[in-house]
Parts: sequence; structure tokens; C-alpha cells
Amino acid sequence: MSELALFGGKPIRNRPHPWVNTMGEEEINAVNGVMKSGIVSAFLGRSGEGFLGGPKVQEIENCFSTKFGTEFAISVNSATSALHTAVAACEIGPGDEVLVTPYSMVATASAILMNGAVPIFVDIDEHTYNLNPKEIEKWITPRTKGIIVTNLFGLAAMMDEIISIARKHNLYVIEDNAQAPGAKINNRYSGTVGDIGVFSLNYHKIIHSGEGGILLTRDEKLARRCRLHRNHGEMVVDDEKDYETITLGNNYRMSELHAAIGIEQLKKLDHLLNLRRILGEQITSGLQLFEGLKGVHIPQGFEHTYYAYPIQFIHQVWGISRKTFSDAMNAEGFPLGTGYQKPIYLLPMYQHKKVFNHTNYPFSLIEKPVQQYERGICAVTEKMYFETLLIADLCRLPYESYDIETFIEAIQKVWNERGRLAHYERNYTPMP
Ligand SMILES: *Cc1c(COP(=O)(O)O)cnc(C)c1O
Repeated sequence: MSELALFGGKPIRNRPHPWVNTMGEEEINAVNGVMKSGIVSAFLGRSGEGFLGGPKVQEIENCFSTKFGTEFAISVNSATSALHTAVAACEIGPGDEVLVTPYSMVATASAILMNGAVPIFVDIDEHTYNLNPKEIEKWITPRTKGIIVTNLFGLAAMMDEIISIARKHNLYVIEDNAQAPGAKINNRYSGTVGDIGVFSLNYHKIIHSGEGGILLTRDEKLARRCRLHRNHGEMVVDDEKDYETITLGNNYRMSELHAAIGIEQLKKLDHLLNLRRILGEQITSGLQLFEGLKGVHIPQGFEHTYYAYPIQFIHQVWGISRKTFSDAMNAEGFPLGTGYQKPIYLLPMYQHKKVFNHTNYPFSLIEKPVQQYERGICAVTEKMYFETLLIADLCRLPYESYDIETFIEAIQKVWNERGRLAHYERNYTPMP
């Protein structure tokens, strides 16, 4: 009989889980090249050549627009800056509402507040964890100006359905593609399907330059507004024929060093994704042995990036809580995340409606809000967060097929001992 590590037995895995940096000689040489050139940034806060940045910044933009097949790419210093920029470029502002998934990193919704607009949260689909197109229309009001979807964990949202609703109501669609560079929807890349797609080059992401972000669009006017927002806004428009309604700009510019690193990283993307897909598919087939666990569901024609691997834990089948299961897996050497991120509307800033101190702006601008940020407004998201979802971070270097085999073995071991765990749980831990 196997002895669970949770009760002092031998864990299935006792190797540490190292973090492997995907940077190497290529990035070091690229950075040295920039240092030798002496040009670490070449932006100027006015119109003319300096408006577009230096050679590496322009090169990374060309590389992204070529790779993903959009006409325009605009580099910035993070995906958070890119999201802020995207909402501003769509001329969304105070008094407007933007529909957004509550199951994402906070920056997705913060971008709306940064522009003085109000986020309205739309529940997710329980198979893809992405904004559910069927839930959109009930939240649309005359104030609704856009939709921000996140391609969560590396799987694209149901963009065809979302875009057709958006067109009907004249809404912009922004894709937060930070977790899904290289994901596909029927031969199109995610992040290129909406009006603007946002990519992250933060060091936690699939490819990175330490910090960085990219916006992709096919719309020249949106591209121009993004570039303005990155580079001090209207202050630089000294020879513009058209009046640009963006009045406020930031300095969200990427340095030449970060651009040079990002160029090398983009070359590695396909290789890194192949490794991830092998491991991800192996997890999916391993999980099929267990009735009480559900792996990823990939709609026909979609390709996942496996930024994270979400697993649904069906506690009714296991007879133990998600917490007990994850404690046991952790003891066996496989730490799992529980729940991913709290539904954004349940975070204190939304509960207290205090974004800017001493005022309820921008919520105060809307007389009869279509939504209160109460428990229950996005029931599927809450179920995933509070009850069901586990996150495995195993689809990356240095993991290999052997690690996935032992992961599945560890699950089997915990399954075999679930009776003992149920007893332990009843006697030693308060039930939720
Ligand atoms: C990481 C992440 C961001 C923020 O990216 P930064 O480049 O760190 O600002 C935004 N949205 C999602 C979905 C993310 O995963």
C-alpha cells in the first residue's frame, strides 16, 4: 500500500521545481549590440522621426506585425500600459461602460478605470474559462462602448461570436492576449481578431524581455492613437491636421535594450510552444483516467499555448475537498494553484468603489448602474474560484514527459488513498 507523503511517507517527486530562464547567448549578444551602438532609447516627445522610437523598437514592431500578420504593432513598456493605451485609443472615457471578464489578472479591468470608464463584468464559460458570448447582451446599455476579453491560460475566447455581437452594438473589442501569444482560432492568431490585441513581455510570460508589452491592430487610426498615448499624447501633436481627441498621454515607451531582447525571444516562441503543447497534451490524456478531474477543453480549430494548465476538481466524485487534494499533491511534490484569481469585482477596490481617494469617481458618473458588484453576478466564475479550479504549472521548461508521468502517478496515489484523506479531513480540518 502506498504511503501518502502528507502522512510522512515518501513523496513521488522530491526534486525542486526550478525556474528556467529562456534567455541565452542570443539575448546577451543583442543587448551588447545595443550597448555598443550607444542608442539605448531614441524616442522624442514630438512629431517626426523620434516619434516612432529607435531602430530596435521599430524592428520589434516589424517582427510582431510580420509574425502575427497585422498591419501595425506598437511596443510599450508592459501589457498593463498596453491595455490602458488600447482603451484610450478606442476613445473610451468617463461615463462609458466596458464589458470585461472578471476572471483575469486585475490589469485587464484596471485599464477601464484608468480611463475613467466603468467595468461591467460578464460571466465566463465553464469549459473555456473565457468570457461567455451568451452572457454579453444582458449587460449592454447605451453607455457600453467596448468589450475586453482575456484569452485565459492560453486559449482564445469565442471571438467570432463575440465580434458579431460587438458589431451589432457598435462596440470595440480588445483582446488581452498576455497569456496566449501563438494561440490560434482557425488559422488566425489570437490577439489579431479583435480591434486591438495586447501582448505581454513580462518575465512570467511565455516569452519575455523582463518587462514589455505590444499592441497589434489593423486599423491605422487606432495605431496612431496608440503611438500618441505611448508618447505624451496631444503634447506632441504640433503639426497635426486632424484634431486628436486624446489629450492625455503617458510615457509608456520601450527601451532599445528591451526591444533587442524581445526580438530574440520572439524567434524562440514557436519552439517553446511546441514543448508546451507536448506536455499539455500529455496532461490532458493522463487526466482522462480520472472521472473526478477535467482537463482543458479545446474547441475545434483552436490551439492552446498552455501558459497554465487548468484542471476542474469535482469534489463530489473524490469525496474530499479541493484543499485536501491540493495539500496532498503538494506533499507529493506537485504544488497546484487553487482558484486562480479572485473574481475582480470581489476585490476591495470594487467592493468599496474607491479607485481615486476621497471620491467615488468614476462610478459616481453613472446614475443607475446596470450592475452592482455583488456575490453571484458571475456564478460560473465564482464556482471556479471558490470550489472547482486547480492550476498546474508544468507545461514549461525544464519539465519533460517524465515529470508529467509522475504527476499522473501522484494523482493516482492520492485517488487510491482518498478514503483515508476523507477521514483526515473530517477529523482534523474544518469543512468549508
Ligand atoms: C500578465 C498579465 C497582464 C499584465 O502584464 P504586464 O506586462 O505584467 O503588465 C495582463 N493581463 C493578463 C491576462 C496577464 O496574464
